[in-house]
Amino acid sequence: MKNSKERLYKEIFLKAAKLNNKPEPAVLHEKSFRDVHCLSCANCCKTTPAIVTKEDINRISKEVNMSAKNFFKTYVLEDINGELSFKTVPCVFLKDDNECSIYDVRPKACREFPHIDDSAFYKRPLLNAKNVEVCPAAQNALDILQKLIETHPEPKP
Ligand code: SF4
Ligand code: SF4
Repeated sequence: MKNSKERLYKEIFLKAAKLNNKPEPAVLHEKSFRDVHCLSCANCCKTTPAIVTKEDINRISKEVNMSAKNFFKTYVLEDINGELSFKTVPCVFLKDDNECSIYDVRPKACREFPHIDDSAFYKRPLLNAKNVEVCPAAQNALDILQKLIETHPEPKP
């Protein structure tokens, strides 16, 4: 079921990418977050392990007064492809009021999620489709693009 939804969302993002009048990612981002408040949500922090880089680990470990090595051992998981993420969901740095306890030094991936204002937004339909399952702003982006497709059908090749 999840996969069929994901396929459907991916198709919408693919179709939208072909539209001449699609909004710039920054504009789409602004519209998608208009009625969404991260502090009332925190769903990404609650459900998805944050991807981290070595730079993130160096920066955050300093902030929490740990050695990078100890921080890595305590909080980070490395998968078979060498991708690093925090070990636990909900995130260990998420506070009860949905604030991030390391907000100023949080991982780059957290700062950029759900990547709607990324210049490569339209080139990543699968990632965008997956993010719709997690993030209400990504759902808004999908809805905006779906409406645009309905009113401006894709030009015939
Ligand atoms: S899931 Fe989206 S709206 Fe919710 S906190 Fe994360 S970025 Fe903000
Ligand atoms: S580091 Fe902060 S922003 Fe990132 S998942 Fe954890 S609580 Fe959320």
